[in-house]
Amino acid sequence: MGLARRMLRGLQRVSNSDPLSPVQSLRLVGSQNTKAGRDNALCRIVELNPGCYPLEAFAPLLPRPTVKPPSAPPRRRSNQRSSNHTINPAVLRIVNDQLTRLGYVQQGDWLSGPCLHPAQHQHGDVHHSFGFNVQSGYGNCFRCGSILLKDICHTLGIQPADYGGLFV
Ligand SMILES: [Zn+2]
Repeated sequence: MGLARRMLRGLQRVSNSDPLSPVQSLRLVGSQNTKAGRDNALCRIVELNPGCYPLEAFAPLLPRPTVKPPSAPPRRRSNQRSSNHTINPAVLRIVNDQLTRLGYVQQGDWLSGPCLHPAQHQHGDVHHSFGFNVQSGYGNCFRCGSILLKDICHTLGIQPADYGGLFV
């Protein structure tokens, strides 16, 4: 019924006629329109093409489907797993221990101290712009930006594989 209604609306549009409902369109040829103001108009055939029309013939009358923005493809399991990974707490602990031994100072979740990439700093980062988040395993430096745990491990000479890998 919904499809018929949409097609009739399309017919109405192209023929500039009154809105049609499926019921109205079943008005029989030879019957009279008894509605007020219609003066008992006789229903007659304006044009007749023998045969019948396939539904598809009216398809161009249908309103164009609104173009939806392409939706993101469903995530594959492997993607999901890698985005939901949990950092291996054993690796976090060993990095934490090592930075503490090196004199990094803990404040809340952050261990702060000199950047692990002093070469990228003008004075070897004497002003300490680096922090290591002991919860997330991310390092952050005002100059270098975020530093991944794997790079921190690399710099500190820690092999995550020795502790079961970076992620669990
Ligand atoms: Zn830095």
